[in-house]
Order: sequence, then C-alpha cells, then structure tokens
Amino acid sequence: MFKKVLIANRGEIAVRIMRTCKEMGIETVAVYSEPDRLALHVLEADEAISIGPAEPSESYLNIEKIIDVAKATGAEAIHPGYGFLAENPLFAKACEDSGIVFIGPPSRVIEDLGNKTLARTMMSKAGVPIIPGMLEATEDTQLLKKEADSMGYPLIIKAAAGGGGKGMRVVRAPEEFVEACTGAISEAQKAFGDGSIYLEKYLDRPRHVEFQILADEHGNVVHLFERECSIQRRHQKIIEETPSPALTEGLRARMGEAAVKVAKTSGYVNAGTVEFLLEPSGNFYFLEVNTRLQVEHPITELTTGTDLVRHQLEVAAGKPLGLRQENLQQRAHAIECRIYAEDPACGFIPSPGKIIGYEEPAGPGIRVDSGIHEGYEVPVHYDPILSKLIVVAEDRQFARLRMIRALENYRITGITTTVAFLLDVVRSIPFAKGETFIDFIRTHFAQWKPDEDLARVAAVAYVVDEILGGSKTVAAVSRTGYPTPWQSLGAWRL
Ligand code: ADP
Repeated sequence: MFKKVLIANRGEIAVRIMRTCKEMGIETVAVYSEPDRLALHVLEADEAISIGPAEPSESYLNIEKIIDVAKATGAEAIHPGYGFLAENPLFAKACEDSGIVFIGPPSRVIEDLGNKTLARTMMSKAGVPIIPGMLEATEDTQLLKKEADSMGYPLIIKAAAGGGGKGMRVVRAPEEFVEACTGAISEAQKAFGDGSIYLEKYLDRPRHVEFQILADEHGNVVHLFERECSIQRRHQKIIEETPSPALTEGLRARMGEAAVKVAKTSGYVNAGTVEFLLEPSGNFYFLEVNTRLQVEHPITELTTGTDLVRHQLEVAAGKPLGLRQENLQQRAHAIECRIYAEDPACGFIPSPGKIIGYEEPAGPGIRVDSGIHEGYEVPVHYDPILSKLIVVAEDRQFARLRMIRALENYRITGITTTVAFLLDVVRSIPFAKGETFIDFIRTHFAQWKPDEDLARVAAVAYVVDEILGGSKTVAAVSRTGYPTPWQSLGAWRL
C-alpha cells in the first residue's frame, strides 16, 4: 500500500479522503490556494503545501504545480476527489507519465467516457439503451436546426465535453432553438474549450437513478446498487437517497447488469458511477459515466457497509477487489442533503462569507462530511458546497424523520445556506410519498421563501426578554476564538 498520498482537492471531499488514509496508516499531503490557508483540509493533513493564488487555474487546476508537489513531498499517488482535475484525462496522463499513481481510471478511459457522444456510441453498440438523439456533436447551427426539426420538441442541447450542467439548454419550441443553440455553444466553448454540442430527446419527468461501480485491474467488476438523485436545481443534485423508491427487485437487477456492462465495455478500473434516466414506464437509458468518486457516495457506503475510498486506494495499488456481487447487500435506507452556501429564495445564487456560528447535528445514524468550521470564511472562488448531511435508518420513513431532526439541529449562521430549504423539501408530502422526479423543485418549490414569521417571533422574544431584564446569558468564546451565539443562551431562544 502507498505510504503517502496527495489529495488534489479542497473542502469536505479532501477531508473525507484524508480520514480513510489515516485509518489505513497512509500519510496525507494537502495542497491549498491562498484563501484556503486556514481551511479544514489544510488543518487535517499531515503536510500542507501552498500552490498559489485563489484563481483555480493558478492553483487547484494547475497540473504542473500539483505534480511537482507530489514529487517534492514523495507522495506515490494522487487522489483527485471530485470536480477540479478529477475527470481531466490530461491530469491522469501527467500522473501516469511521472510515475505517480492516479487514483481513478486510466487516462484513456476518462477521455473516452468524457466525450458524451463517443460514450453514447460505445454503449449503444454494446446494447445498453441510450436516450434517443444524435451520436455526433457539431457547432454547425444549421445542421443542428435540421436535426432538431426532424427529432421534434421538447429536446435538450448538450455539450459533448459537458459536465456540471454547463452548455445544457432545454428547448420546448422551434422558434427558441437557434438562440439556445448559440448560447450553449458559447457556454461550452468557455467552460471546456470545445463548443461542439448535440441533441437528445427531452424525457418527460424521468428520475435520475445511478449505479455505483467498482472495478479492479484483474477484470473484477461489481455494482453497489443505485442512488436516486432526482431532486435537482439547475440540473444538479441536492438530495440523494438509496434505495430508490422507484425500483423493483427486477428493475434493480437489470439496471445493475447494464451498469456492469458499461464498466466492462469501457475497460473501467477503480470507482465510478453509471448514470441513467428512468421513465415512469420502467424504461431506462444510459446518461453518462462519472469517472470519479461522487459527492453522494456516502449513502452507498452506509447501506452497503463499505468504504469506497479504501477500495479506491486498494484498487489503485493493484490489489484485487475483495468484493463479490453475490455477497453485496443493500441494507437500511440512507438520505443525503447537500449543504451549500447558496440562497434558495434567490435562484440559488452563491452566498459566501464568514461562518459565525456552527453546530453539527449528532446522534444515531447521522454522518456529517464537512469542510468548514466556526470562523471559516467561505471563499467566492469555488463550488459553494459546505458539507453533506447523511442519515441512515431502518427504512425510508425513519430515514426521512431522522433527516428532519438532523436538519433542525444543524446550525450555520453568518451566511445563507440551503438548510431551511432542504428541511421544507424533506418535510413535504410529495417527498414523503417518494414522488421524486427531476422537475421536483420546479414543480413544488419554485417560489420558496424562508419562514420569516419564525425569525420575527424570535426577534420579538429577544426584545421582550431584554426589556424584562434579560436572562442570564453566558458570554462564551468558541474553541476557534470566535464568539458563538449558541453558547450565549438566553431564555428568548425558547
Ligand atoms: P452534466 O454532465 O452536465 O451534469 P447530465 O447529462 O449528467 O449533465 O444531465 C444532468 C441532468 O440533466 C440529469 O440528471 C437530468 O435531470 C437532466 N437531463 C439530462 N438529459 C436529459 C434528457 N434527455 N431528458 C430530460 N432530462 C435530462
């Protein structure tokens, strides 16, 4: 096994990877940009090396610098986390060329699967159902318009090199097409340096259901069941759960088989995710492969009793997978809520700033993967994910009630977060019924506003309490030296 691993990432995922490394006796090297010098991943690592200014291209996306740090610190392997360089074949190749192990699939596999039209062609040939649409991408708007008119509407425009919802546009009528098309091309060009786009039929109210896979260099491939990720904003997930309320045993087996076929067809090694869209009819279609550890991997860990990062490290070190499909079981029910520094009442715009008060929920079946602490300043430069709240309980109903309690006890002050919004979603009747489709937020929560009455009641209670002489407040300072509102307990809080 490796003695030292560099984590080319930041935030909660860097911290999460380091935890498993520590349990395995592996030393960790963190890299960080200027505004991150007091970030949790820096404090948790055995060694931390500064790699430049805030700008991602100068730090977390700088391949050369990161490889140099690995060499200088003697790290034998690099874990890329998710985002940043995780799905960049040039980075995986640079690691391979420098004799450093990239903890992920071979660069060639990342390259093949990173091209959406190539992946669609490959999977369609292998007999995996794909979403009806084009198999080649182009920037020729005339050609695209012809295709669009013959396919019919609604349709979805996607960037061949796409990811993170960038370059994607839903088009509902022919007259909207050309404008959407030029917008998507320029967005894709900016985001990926490649403006080529293609069209798919826009499916009506599908669910997003994905399968976790693990594969080793010795030809073993298993799947670790599904994750239902239909609750999304801007085509990006915010709540995930497993098992999916929509799968029967038979459908699960068929989709799992298809996921393993996708992995085998692409020559996959290490952990990956095969994403599908599932229609109410039970028809499912290959969407794409994410060639990395996913944000939502903990719900799989909690329901299969595995540590996916440990498996990633073992596979990367050349060991055969210790798992067999017939021994894998899905137990209990897990839900994850992503906690973002975003304002859900205002189109989910990022809301960076300083975290003044921070208190995590605790108790049975609760896991918090966090990258923040009290007094931490959330920078503007990166993805605004703060942490992930994950619960596990015997069944879906108990998991939902546990998530409600956990969210109620999760206190983050100083910045706007998604906590109150998530609480309303998890409490809602459609969520309780498992009616989770990709248009869930748009259908039920488009006009969401925080409960201002509650804030007003608290303010009035505070003033009344002060007028009556105030309660015995305990002036306190937190471990990090910042005053914490949670420790200055007054009767008004009741
Ligand atoms: P990205 O790689 O940019 O995240 P994906 O292709 O994975 O994009 O799609 C992200 C989300 O967009 C899906 O989970 C789904 O909600 C929606 N989506 C993508 N393709 C379609 C489609 N053909 N029909 C309906 N919704 C789609």
